Amino acid sequence: MTGLIFHLIPHTHWDREWYLPRAALQARLVGVVDDLIERLQADPGYRSFLLDGQTVLLEDYLRARPDREGDVRALVKTGRLQVGPWYVLPDEQIPSGEGLVRNLLLGSADAERLGGRLDVLYSPDAFGHPPAWPTLAREFGIRYGVVWRGLGGEAGQERDLYRWRGLDGKDVVLWHLPRAGYEIGAALPADAERLFAAWAPVRGPLVQRATSKHIPVFIGADHHAAHPDVPRLRDLLAELDPQSAFRVSRLDEFFQAAADGAKPASMGPGRPSSGGMPRPSWLWCAWPSPSRRWRGAREGATGGRRWSSRGERWCAPSSMTPSRAAPATTSRAPSSRASRASRRWRRRWCGAACTT
Ligand SMILES: [Zn+2]
Repeated sequence: MTGLIFHLIPHTHWDREWYLPRAALQARLVGVVDDLIERLQADPGYRSFLLDGQTVLLEDYLRARPDREGDVRALVKTGRLQVGPWYVLPDEQIPSGEGLVRNLLLGSADAERLGGRLDVLYSPDAFGHPPAWPTLAREFGIRYGVVWRGLGGEAGQERDLYRWRGLDGKDVVLWHLPRAGYEIGAALPADAERLFAAWAPVRGPLVQRATSKHIPVFIGADHHAAHPDVPRLRDLLAELDPQSAFRVSRLDEFFQAAADGAKPASMGPGRPSSGGMPRPSWLWCAWPSPSRRWRGAREGATGGRRWSSRGERWCAPSSMTPSRAAPATTSRAPSSRASRASRRWRRRWCGAACTT
C-alpha cells in the first residue's frame, strides 16, 4: 500500500492513581516534564506532545515547579503541549454520569486556563465505555475520540476508524487503538541500523486496519519520558519507507486530515460498552494491584458512586455559580461555596474514581 501518511504522535501514559506510591510517581513526573519542556523548547521539529489527556498531571507538576508555569502556558498556547480534555482519566463505568461531566468540566477549565484544550476525547486505557460516550463528547464540543479496550474482536470491528453514534443520535469520529495499544511505537529507535527491524511489526498491523491513508503512530508508553528524538525518527522512517510520508502531528491534526474524505464504518448506538470483559470492570482493575489500588477500586465501585450521587444533589447547585470549573474567562469572582464544591470533586476524582 503506497501513498500513506503516518502521523507520529509523541505521548506518555500516566497511571497516577495506582502504579507507585504517590511521592515516587510525583518525583518521576517532575523529571519527565522538566525533560519534555526542554526538548520542546530546544527543537521546533519536535512539534507536539500529547500529555495523556488529563490535566491533573500539570496540576501536580506545577505544584512542584510553580516557576515553570510560563513555559507550560507558552507550549500549551501554541499547541505544542496537548492537554485535557479530562481532569483525570477515569474508569468510565464506575462513576456516575454526573461524575464524568464534572471531570470534563474541570479538565476543560484547567486546559483553557493554561492556553487551550485538546479537542479529542482521549480514553486510551479505560476498561470499556458507556453508550453515552459520543453524547458526552459532543456536549463538550468535541467531535473526535480515541479508545482501545471495549472494541474489536467481533464482526464489523476490524477497521481503525468509526463514526460512533450515541443514544441521542450525535456522533463522533473514533480512532480505535491497535491491539498493541498506545505503546505500539514506543520501541521505535532513532537509529538507522535498528529501525528496519522495529518498523515492520508496527507498520503491518496499522496498515492492515487502515480506513484512510492517514495513520497515527503513537510513540510512548506507561510512565515513560518523551522519546529522545522524534524528528530524527521521522527522517529515518522517510528514508526507510520512501513511498509513504511521515509527519510529527498533534492528535487533532491527524483527525482533521483523516476525517476529510474518509468513510468510517458506522457504529452504534450502544457500542463499545462492554469493555470486552465478562466481569465488572472494578474486579478487573483489582487484578494486578497493590492493596492501595484494590481499596481504591472497591471504594470507586461502591462509596465513590454513592458519593457521586450525593454530590449531584449537594454540589451541583452550588457549582452553578462561577467556580474553578467555569471557563477561565469568567470575570466574576468564584464563590467560596462553589470553590469548596469544586475542591471536593477534585479530591474525589483523585481518590477513588480514576483507575485506568
Ligand atoms: Zn493506564
